Amino acid sequence: MIPATFDYIAAKSLDEAISLLAQHKDDAKILAGGHSLLPAMKLRLMQPKVLIDLGRIRDLSYIKEEAGQIRIGAMTTHFQVEISDLLRRSCPLLPETATHLGDMQVRNKGTIGGSLVHSDPAADWPAAILALDAELVARSAKGDRTIKASDFFVEMLTTALEPGEVLREIRIPAAKGKPAQAYMKVRHPASGFAVVGVAVNLAIDGGKCQSAGIGITGVSPKAYRAAKVESALKGNVLDAKMLSAAAAHAADGVDVNSDLYASADYRKQLAIVYTRRALETAISRVGK
Ligand SMILES: Cc1cc2nc3c(=O)[nH]c(=O)nc-3n(C[C@H](O)[C@H](O)[C@H](O)COP(=O)(O)OP(=O)(O)OC[C@H]3O[C@@H](n4cnc5c(N)ncnc54)[C@H](O)[C@@H]3O)c2cc1C
Repeated sequence: MIPATFDYIAAKSLDEAISLLAQHKDDAKILAGGHSLLPAMKLRLMQPKVLIDLGRIRDLSYIKEEAGQIRIGAMTTHFQVEISDLLRRSCPLLPETATHLGDMQVRNKGTIGGSLVHSDPAADWPAAILALDAELVARSAKGDRTIKASDFFVEMLTTALEPGEVLREIRIPAAKGKPAQAYMKVRHPASGFAVVGVAVNLAIDGGKCQSAGIGITGVSPKAYRAAKVESALKGNVLDAKMLSAAAAHAADGVDVNSDLYASADYRKQLAIVYTRRALETAISRVGK
């Protein structure tokens, strides 16, 4: 399939990208790795008249520690996250999640920022970003705006980004001690996207769960934090009975997707089973 005709502009700086976006308004789309946008353009689901490419803006691609946070530039590729020593040491959930994304070509070119803004209901990053209680920093002509991950995903393919805003950074609060983290996914056999993906981020002290972040993707029209699982875990001793009881709430209060591959009942059951497995895996990595 061939996309409709469009103009292409390689922005040299974030400021230039923002002013181009202000100039072309709804006619323009930001281009990051192109691995979601270009397929959509080829199917003519999207027909932007102007593409503003962020690919040459080097200072949007980094992973660093600053002010008690891990900060990731929006143009950081999935592969850069996967191989980051800093993340493997301090936030292993992110490199682990990256290994589940697509294939090597997708991971080499696709970006964490592009995936979050695309907000595919079966994408992997949203689950991890929610579990980590991250913040997303958007820049527009008015300056920076910080959005909590739990407010960022509005509905399928829609985020809280406003017209004229570019996502520039993802901020993860640094963990106190060694976090118990895991990402587990049931891959769709054809697309590789998540039928169900569960990200777990626990702080455990003295045998008890001090804090819990559980992000779930693939199950409903947008990724969500499993608040009832989190509250069932918090303050409790994490034995097998407790984990099963907490995981049973994995799909509470959400509209569960149903499609040719997985009915709503089956998907809900997968969410429960994979939440329990992800909890067990995360805990086994740090011990109680
Ligand atoms: C074969 C294949 C398999 C895949 N498998 C998986 C998978 O298993 N799991 C998974 O999660 N994903 C998967 N993907 C999607 C992949 O992860 C994409 O890289 C990702 O969804 C989009 O990132 P991108 O950098 O390519 O963004 P693009 O495609 O360039 O952009 C996506 C959207 O975000 C907007 N955008 C991008 N960056 C910004 C920004 N900084 N600020 C504002 N707007 C922005 C664009 O305008 C566009 O609307 C797959 C893709 C392919 C082609």
